[in-house]
Amino acid sequence: SKEDVQEEVDKPEDLQERPPIITVMGHVDHGKTSLLDYIRSSNVIAGEAGGITQHIGAYNVELPSGRKITFLDTPGHEAFTAMRARGASVTDIAILIVAADDGIMPQTVEAINHIKSANIPMIVAINKMDKPQADPDRVMTQLAEHNVLPEAWGGDAIICKISAHTGEGIDKLLETILLVADVQGLKANPNIPAMGTIMEAKLDKGRGPIASLIVRDGSLNIGDTIVSGTSICKVKAMFDENNKAVKVATPSMPVTVLGFNEVPSAGETFTAVDEKLSKQIVEERKAKIKEDLIKGSGGNTLEDLLQKTSEKDMKILNIVLKTDVNGSLEAIKASVMKLVNEEVKINILHSGVGAISESDLILAQASNAMVIAFNIGQDSKVKTIAERMKIKIYSYKIIYELLDEIERVVKGMKEPKYEEVYLGRAEVMAVFKLSN
Ligand code: GDP
Repeated sequence: SKEDVQEEVDKPEDLQERPPIITVMGHVDHGKTSLLDYIRSSNVIAGEAGGITQHIGAYNVELPSGRKITFLDTPGHEAFTAMRARGASVTDIAILIVAADDGIMPQTVEAINHIKSANIPMIVAINKMDKPQADPDRVMTQLAEHNVLPEAWGGDAIICKISAHTGEGIDKLLETILLVADVQGLKANPNIPAMGTIMEAKLDKGRGPIASLIVRDGSLNIGDTIVSGTSICKVKAMFDENNKAVKVATPSMPVTVLGFNEVPSAGETFTAVDEKLSKQIVEERKAKIKEDLIKGSGGNTLEDLLQKTSEKDMKILNIVLKTDVNGSLEAIKASVMKLVNEEVKINILHSGVGAISESDLILAQASNAMVIAFNIGQDSKVKTIAERMKIKIYSYKIIYELLDEIERVVKGMKEPKYEEVYLGRAEVMAVFKLSN
């Protein structure tokens, strides 16, 4: 949380353009790694070629124009949404990668839903265009079926056709990223203390606790003190992805940092603070964690779904729905959508056939959604995770019971319109019949 750390308000003249931060998502084998590798290797600056690149969870690419783009190397949608759930979303623009010969697959749909729920711009990269079986039109038709309507067809989805093998279309993709970034007007103030997000962290045998992080705002200098969760770091040394020592990490820059007193959590935010204050902040946070453990806060019980949404004018009930077969999925979706009223909107964030997965739970937590399982068993590992996350899985075998429950929630979310007000009482003494 940020409330225990002071935030300063930036003057507009202090703000400078910062590189966009990009996450690539898509189905396994559609070319995520190959695309990142291609972009990275075609960008190796002379002198660094042949050097060993370090995996630090993200890297910076400089285009011939001198402008930069930061790519995150995070593994999968879970990490993406888990960070958002912790209020540490890092990504400015998502790239959805779809293989032109394979089309939309289950994890593609999952990625679309994660991106949509994060409310960030999406660029679709149709990959493997070099393959003879490539069929981009089929991919576009499938995208449209999932409410991602290509610009060429009147929608707002930006499509780039690429090959991570030949490099075809990748310059265009990078240009497109910068165009989208310009529209967003991404800015930061390099002259304030740094804040950002921990990407990865581990205990290194030789060097002690070590973390890679990305600066979101401000500048991080050697000698600065940062706090992240309950760990403190007096920055001893910083390195970029080419293992080059860095003195100052500016906005959107990923670096590895040495000097933590304990291993911080990946996905947690960090803030640079006055060294004297850091201990006090960490003590207060530790006390708060203890208190929360005793109170047992968190979770998505029905009461939470109602309370947390009751502030806005129009209430939204977010749902993650998994069913046994496609037939029941379509039937339930159609019936559920009929339960809306003038005050409550139902939003099926993600739906699919098969067991509830960890990714479903993380999405539900990030979006405060109701998790519904219809006619499916539950993996004991996922059950444990759900318990730990304090997420209730609403499980049904009969459709009308499921619909009753949702209706109950929707009615609970609706404000009562009529109220009985006691003004007084009267007794009828006599009844007069009026002729005519
Ligand atoms: P990831 O699972 O999404 O990271 O996918 P990978 O990058 O590992 O790619 C999966 C497979 O597809 C590998 O065998 C790649 O060599 C191949 N591949 C990736 N991009 C292309 C492409 O543009 N053209 C062709 N022909 N193959 C590709």
